[in-house]
Amino acid sequence: MPNPKQHTERYFQSPSKYIQGPAAIKNAAEYLGQLGKKPLLTCDSVVFNIAGKNLISALESHGFQVTREEFTGETSNKEIERLVSLGKNCDFVIGMGGGKTMDTAKAVASQLNLRVAILPTTASTDAPCSALSVIYTPEGEFERYSFFNANPDVVLVDTNVIAHAPARFLAAGMGDAIATNVEARLCKNSLNFGGGLPTEVASAIGNKCEEVLLKFGKQAYEANKAQVVTQAFEAVVEANTLMSGLGFESGGLAAAHAIHNGFTAIHGVHHLLHGEKVAFGTVAQLILTGTSSAELDVYLAFMLSVDLPITFEMLGIPKVTDEDIRRVAKLSCAPGETIWNMQDPVTEELVFGAIKAADAVGRDFILRAKGRQV
Ligand SMILES: [Zn+2]
Repeated sequence: MPNPKQHTERYFQSPSKYIQGPAAIKNAAEYLGQLGKKPLLTCDSVVFNIAGKNLISALESHGFQVTREEFTGETSNKEIERLVSLGKNCDFVIGMGGGKTMDTAKAVASQLNLRVAILPTTASTDAPCSALSVIYTPEGEFERYSFFNANPDVVLVDTNVIAHAPARFLAAGMGDAIATNVEARLCKNSLNFGGGLPTEVASAIGNKCEEVLLKFGKQAYEANKAQVVTQAFEAVVEANTLMSGLGFESGGLAAAHAIHNGFTAIHGVHHLLHGEKVAFGTVAQLILTGTSSAELDVYLAFMLSVDLPITFEMLGIPKVTDEDIRRVAKLSCAPGETIWNMQDPVTEELVFGAIKAADAVGRDFILRAKGRQV
């Protein structure tokens, strides 16, 4: 239930520094030097080739000694322990890559009691700025949220690298980010991830995040396809990374992320990115809370414009059974899930209905959109 102990303190937290621009990696030494000179860098081999090599040479030319360890793909306790044992002689941690690499780096730094720099190479999640990691089982199912004492010390975003990542990642980040305001506005009397009530600034950030996405989302998606950095692209990268990150952590999550977590138990959707499932969960949440058709259409039009999934078919599960959806609904309503932050009535049956209805309105919207094109 929201705020059971009737806390009255407002609470806001954020990374110490956020830097974003098209030459951020080239200038990395300037921003990371304050953290130490002997970083443990974790990234996967793909990211190493795309950006890791350039980062290492930028740092080594300024006297850094970089220890590089490959990230093997899952934010699991096993992987975290492995990297902790390899980072004992380092003086800070760098996580470079996607959401799971960053979440792993944050957990490793916390266990080693070291500061951490996060360098996302896609704008696909709201993970970079937060003081929490999502821990999965080695098989990739959601296990738990893990909370740290501090947010990352530096978040450094190279928009030129991000512009060269597939546009699908930017779209997924927008799916995650469009949930920020939709979820946070229902959490006004719920404790956020810092354990306090949301501030006005957290709510303003959520609003701005949504405004930027609706205004520039499609344009930024096209810029990404052309692999160029534009003002719209910079604005959306900031919305996906900084605004979404601050907005969810200090604003609060609700049903969209809980439904996402439920979906991770379905095998047919493991190929999907976090934000793609969150986008679908956002529509389900809007239905759960009785949103008008006109308002729903605004979100559906936005999602479709950047190719986010709004039907079971687009999620890659056209033949999903009611039994599976009931399983998703049950997991979404697990004790401690963020769905319980909402004031609205929540039962497994209502969530089951909202998920089925989300697919139905998605299909209907696509039919209407096609009709308008004829
Ligand atoms: Zn998220």
